[in-house]
Amino acid sequence: MNDVNPINYRIHLEPDLRTFEFSGNTDILLETSKPVNEITLNAVRLAFWECKVQLDGEFADCPFYVDTMKEEVRVCLPKEMTGRILLRIRYMGELNDRMAGFYRSRYGAEGAAKYAAVTQFEESDARRAFPCFDHPAKKATFDVEMVVDEDLVAISNGPVAEEEGLDDGRKVVRFQQTPKMSTYLLFFGAGEFDFIEDTGETPIRVATMPGMTKHARFGLEFGRKALEFCEDYYGVEYPLPKLDLIAIPDFAAGAMENWGAITFRENLLLHYADITSRAGEQRICEVIAHEIAHQWFGNLVTPSDWKYLWLNESFATYFGYGIVTHYYPEWDLWDQFLHGETDTALARDALKETVPIEIPGGEHVVINGSTAPIIYNKGGSILRQVAGYTGEDAFREGLRVYLRKHKYACASSHNLWEALEQVSEKPVTTMMENWIEQPGFPLVAVTRDGDKLFLTQARFTYLPYETDQVWVVPVTIKVFYNSGDSKTITTLLDSKDTGIDIGADPVAYKVNFGQTGFYRVRYREKGDLSELGKRVLSKELPPVDRWGLQNDLYALVRGGDTPVDDYLDFLSNYEHEDAFLPLISIAGNLFRTYLVMEGAQRDKVASIGKSFLENILSHIGYEPHQDRRPTTSILRDQIMVHAAMYGSVDVAEFARGKFSSLMDGQGIHPDIMRSVMQIGALHGNEETFKWFDKRLKSSESEHERMNILAGLGSFRDTALIKKIQQYVLNEVPDRNRFIPIQYMASSPHAMPSMWQWYVSHVGVLEQFHPVHYERIIEAIVPVCGIGKEEQVKAFFEEYMTQKDKARDVIKMSLEKLEINSRMRVSSEVLD
Ligand SMILES: [Zn+2]
Repeated sequence: MNDVNPINYRIHLEPDLRTFEFSGNTDILLETSKPVNEITLNAVRLAFWECKVQLDGEFADCPFYVDTMKEEVRVCLPKEMTGRILLRIRYMGELNDRMAGFYRSRYGAEGAAKYAAVTQFEESDARRAFPCFDHPAKKATFDVEMVVDEDLVAISNGPVAEEEGLDDGRKVVRFQQTPKMSTYLLFFGAGEFDFIEDTGETPIRVATMPGMTKHARFGLEFGRKALEFCEDYYGVEYPLPKLDLIAIPDFAAGAMENWGAITFRENLLLHYADITSRAGEQRICEVIAHEIAHQWFGNLVTPSDWKYLWLNESFATYFGYGIVTHYYPEWDLWDQFLHGETDTALARDALKETVPIEIPGGEHVVINGSTAPIIYNKGGSILRQVAGYTGEDAFREGLRVYLRKHKYACASSHNLWEALEQVSEKPVTTMMENWIEQPGFPLVAVTRDGDKLFLTQARFTYLPYETDQVWVVPVTIKVFYNSGDSKTITTLLDSKDTGIDIGADPVAYKVNFGQTGFYRVRYREKGDLSELGKRVLSKELPPVDRWGLQNDLYALVRGGDTPVDDYLDFLSNYEHEDAFLPLISIAGNLFRTYLVMEGAQRDKVASIGKSFLENILSHIGYEPHQDRRPTTSILRDQIMVHAAMYGSVDVAEFARGKFSSLMDGQGIHPDIMRSVMQIGALHGNEETFKWFDKRLKSSESEHERMNILAGLGSFRDTALIKKIQQYVLNEVPDRNRFIPIQYMASSPHAMPSMWQWYVSHVGVLEQFHPVHYERIIEAIVPVCGIGKEEQVKAFFEEYMTQKDKARDVIKMSLEKLEINSRMRVSSEVLD
């Protein structure tokens, strides 16, 4: 079929929001260089009425065969044809409730539910709405027209070209033709959309459900900023005549970059005064920036195959942070990138079962809990490493060359490297190949002999794994001398080991200075680490390096190489720490350790954690009003919950007081709303639960609902936990059911019952959206499975022989369970 290419689709759709069906009529103009007897198109769950082909100006019927397994329809031509061919296909489909393909999204109060019809096509669900060549490389132009009720609004990728009333109370809405684009980026929607608009050179609108536009201004304004940044930085104008940002209540992922018609979960686009926290604001901006960067990276230049999906997602991830930083440098987004993206990627990629960024083979690349941290987080981190290697100017110029050369077409990884290499005149291809095409990353072990450092690399995995993989590692080292001087040395480690002269009389050295490299570091001599510890305590090392030191050490603890007590001892160097990045990371590492341990070890971690966090809170205060930097608010909201769980009386008292005010109908600062709800639940009773229930159902803000769902997952009372586990399945909307489950899986009080609950409800849970089902497994298995390892393993062995669901995530979660179990056992032996 590779010789057959689509040129244009004319798609006519009539969605019916009463019967939840749609009828469709699609004309496909295609071209073939070789004679063909039949045309094979992708299609899923479409009922075909007729397929015709144009012959001598007339349309002739064609026999057709549907292959459900292959998701195809085969159209047999009346005779062998070549050159241009025009097919006309009439069919019907269902507006499903699975948040994929052409689906219905619910809104409005209970009892008065209403629906909008919208689409979500990445990566292979366009075929659920119209027959097509559903592959990113099969680009074509699209003419979309929809017939909808007169009082509804229709939206697609292009602006409306014309509207025409029909006699039956409906209207036809025709959209302008799109540029050449891939099927997975098409969008159409119909519903009672409201708008606010910014009429600039490129008009931008935010579309919401009725009555919600008052929350849309924030997103609209940042959308304009992000668009301006991209046009300027990429040196290529935004290619469409308009841009819509659309808030959709029922949405499985976070957002989707449909060209000119980006869709979002409501909490990632809408901003609610007095409810949205600063963390929520930042997330909105970062997601908008991510999706707008895609309008170039993905939409204008598209991966020629799904295995190059990283070309979309790593750039969007990287620029998501870069664009927001450009406008709000005081938000410290790159610190959050290291904590949220790079560290997550390092943790994911240290499993034996990992994948390269460029996932080989297969027609599909499934974005799931196993692959996303590699494609998005590791991909974005490697770009940061490359930008550090080529320099920012060459990086930008290289991207401009790449975009200009491949616009409205497709590209592979090599096309990108060639552009970066051409501009930077550095061996980018050699360096990138081994980061993109091989799985994992190195641990650089280092030791000093006099004036010389010896560096050795080997793949880092938590569990033992034999491999002789080698990477080309850009290494930056800061050397401190007895004289008080210091200097920075850079080198390329491109073999298993190497030696470097660092000059006379060194006293300490920090490898991966600035933490731009995607690798872990191990100091072989304890003395070297303690010298660096002193420079943590004195803050002679910058925050990012203070972060990296303890975080790499913690990875070695998880790898079984270092006792957990060594990590806890090393934390004494952080007693005066005041920077966000090391603090949030330490808090996270302590909490993970707390959940993994039991008995006396857990108590010990709780005691260390409690005094560590109380000390931070004594400096930043409980109330967010005075915060100069948003990261302080983010840190506080996180650590107050941990401190309360560790038994901090002061924190519990403060938060419970705030929670009472909340229950009495008073407002509290949005930046502590989540922690207050969680701590309120921790100390809550039946009445608290009833309050949450009522509030969840009456709230008009998805941000408030997020906080309530976090609260629902944080109860201590065993009877209530049981009740909430059932409540989640019956009362929480599909799109959000995974959220309280995730919170319960990291609550020491709910944890003991979660595995059994999962097993008894697996039949219901596996009906969740696949991504959400995976999140549940990933949350429950690694920690709630500790102590039940054999049972958990046996269950999934049996499960995987019967079902093909969540396989990657199950394997990944079992490996994490093994790592956690070992950590618990080894700490018991040591004590
Ligand atoms: Zn993306």
